[in-house]
Amino acid sequence: MMHRLTLAQIARGLAAKDFSAVELSEALLARIGQFDPQLNSFITVTADQARAQAQAADARRAAGENGALLGAPIAHKDLFCTQGVRTSCASKILDNFVSPYDATVVEKLAAAGCVSLGKLNMDEFAMGSANESSHYGPVRNPWNTECVPGGSSGGSAAAVAARLIPAATGSDTGGSIRQPAALTNLTGIKPTYGRVSRWGMIAYASSLDQGGPLARTAEDCALLLGAMAGFDPKDSTCVDQPVDDYLAALNRPLNGLRIGLPREYFGAGLDPRLSDAVMACVEVLKKLGATVREIGLPNMQHAIPAYYVIAPAEASSNLSRFDGVRFGYRCESPVNLEDLYKRSRGEGFGAEVKRRIMVGTYALSAGYYDAYYLKAQKIRRLIRSDFIGAFQEVDVILGPTTPNPAWKLGEKSSDPIAAYLEDIYTITANLAGIPGLSMPAGFVDGLPVGVQLLAPYFQEGRLLNVAHQYQQATDWHQRAPEGF
Ligand code: GLN
Repeated sequence: MMHRLTLAQIARGLAAKDFSAVELSEALLARIGQFDPQLNSFITVTADQARAQAQAADARRAAGENGALLGAPIAHKDLFCTQGVRTSCASKILDNFVSPYDATVVEKLAAAGCVSLGKLNMDEFAMGSANESSHYGPVRNPWNTECVPGGSSGGSAAAVAARLIPAATGSDTGGSIRQPAALTNLTGIKPTYGRVSRWGMIAYASSLDQGGPLARTAEDCALLLGAMAGFDPKDSTCVDQPVDDYLAALNRPLNGLRIGLPREYFGAGLDPRLSDAVMACVEVLKKLGATVREIGLPNMQHAIPAYYVIAPAEASSNLSRFDGVRFGYRCESPVNLEDLYKRSRGEGFGAEVKRRIMVGTYALSAGYYDAYYLKAQKIRRLIRSDFIGAFQEVDVILGPTTPNPAWKLGEKSSDPIAAYLEDIYTITANLAGIPGLSMPAGFVDGLPVGVQLLAPYFQEGRLLNVAHQYQQATDWHQRAPEGF
C-alpha cells in the first residue's frame, strides 16, 4: 500500500525505516508497468536512473541526512530538460532530443533527494486543455478512461491521480497545472510569475509560463514548491526574493480570511452542478472562520481573446528555433535550405502547434501588430488592474477551476474554440502573473470538481494555507479512482 502514501507520509515512513527509497521506487515502477498502458501518462520511464537515485537517497539517509524529500519519488512533465534523457515536449520534432543539461527545477528537486521515475506525457508544446495533442497519443483520465485528464499537464495529473507516483512537476501557461488537477481530483499550484525558474523548461509563451507541482494534498504541494522555488541567475525573469516557509504557513487558522467570489465566474457557461460544489466549499470555509463577499472582475470577458493572441504570438517566436538544423527532427533528403526548413517543420509539428504558429505570426505581422498584439497587451493590463483592485478588498478570490468536469476523448478536438473556453477561469492568473491553486471539492457523475483560489503576488503560502485547512475539514482529496 506504499503507493497510497502522500509525500509527507513517505517522509515519515522513510525516516522511521518502515521502507527504503529503493523499495518504494521499485513498487512504483512495477505499478507504472502494470497500469500505465491504460493511461499513457509516461513518455519515458527512467528505471535505471530511478534505482541509482533511490540508492543514493538511502545512502544519504544512512549518513544522517533527513530532508523531507530525500527518497521522494516524482516524475517530470516532458518539457523540463533532463540531462541524458529524452526531452520531447510530446512533439515529433523533439522525439530524438536528448538534453545536455538539467532544468533548474530538475536540478533543485534532485538536490533535495527526489527520485525521478521518468518523463510525463503532455499536450504537444503544452498547447491544449485535454492532452490529446501529444505525438505519443492521448492520456486517459483514471476516473473514467473514456475521458480526458485535462491538459496540458495531463500525464502528470493522470499518473498522480492513479497513484503511480505521489507527485509530479507541471507547467501552467493558461491553466495547465490547475485545470488537469481539477479534472483528476488533485491539488496543483501555479506560482507567481518569476517565483520558479524557467531555465531548461521548454518555452511555450515566455511571459505566461510558470512551473509548479501537482500532488494530492496542499501539504505535498508546499513541500515540493519550497524545493522548486527561488532565484536563479540563469532566468532573467526569476525574482530575487526569499522563498516563504510554505510548510509553516499551512497551519494558520482561517479566522477573518476575506474571500471574494467574482460574479463573472458564476455566469453563463458554468455547469450548475459545479457551481453547487463551489458554494458547498464556501460554506466549509465560512465555518472555518472566513467571510465572503461578491467582487467584480469586469475585464475577464476579454481574457480568452487576449490570451489567444498573446500566447500564440510568443509561441510563434519561441518555436522558430526548431528549424531542422540545430536539434530535433530533420526531414529526409532536403533539396535546399528552404525545403529543409519547410519540411522539417511541416512534418515535425502537429496540427494544433501549427495553428498557433500561424495565428501568432499573423498577429505579429506588420499592419496587424497594433490591432491584435498591442490591443491584447492593453487588455492584459486591465485584467491585472482588476485583480489589484479586488485584492484591496479580499485576501483570496475563489471560484470554479473549470466550467465543466472532464469531457469525453475526441468531444472537443475538432472544435478548438470549445476547448479554449475551458480555460476561462484559469488564464487571467497567467495574464496578471498572480499565483493560483486548484483543490478537490466534490464530484459530479463520478468525475472530480476543482475549486480555484487566487491570491496576490507571492502569496503562495496563503493559497496553500487555505487549501490545507480545507483539506483538514474535508476528505474529497483522499478519494481514489477505482481500478488502480
Ligand atoms: N489550454 C491553454 C492553452 O492551450 C493553456 C495551456 C497551458 O497552460 N500550457 O494554451
